[in-house]
Amino acid sequence: MSSADPEPDPVWCEEPTPVTAEDLGEDTWRLLREQAIRALDCAYVPYSHYPVGAAGLVDDGRMVSGCNIENASYGVTLCAECSLVSELMMTGGGRLVAFDCVDGNGATLVPCGRCRQLLFEHGGNDLMVNMPSGRAPMSVVLPEAFGPAHLEAHAAETTAEKD
Ligand SMILES: [Zn+2]
Repeated sequence: MSSADPEPDPVWCEEPTPVTAEDLGEDTWRLLREQAIRALDCAYVPYSHYPVGAAGLVDDGRMVSGCNIENASYGVTLCAECSLVSELMMTGGGRLVAFDCVDGNGATLVPCGRCRQLLFEHGGNDLMVNMPSGRAPMSVVLPEAFGPAHLEAHAAETTAEKD
């Protein structure tokens, strides 16, 4: 590349940049929506023909995405959140700070009950979720959620009883 060529614009999510819920502007939500829609193309839905795409922003600036993956044995079908969380862990872990999900028409979709639990594990009460009724923290999407803190409290009680 000659020096006259302009430098390509850096893609902000390629450089780890710590983000917090306060950094969540409309540009970020737009990027999440684009990623979620892109993920629709990967959905494996030969039975329902109901593709779902999901995208999440990680606290280090990465974006992860997922699609639903059906199975002939319907009960083991994976929601889009399952593959999103797999990508999260396979690309370095971290905490989810924002989440968006779309159906095949690009309309905002709610996470199912199981996936609210999945998202809570990796984002906690502060994870912002784009719901059809508006953006809401996980503390609203899954109130009084069961999570790692319950297991830690139980372990602490058990240890205290032994002492
Ligand atoms: Zn689900």
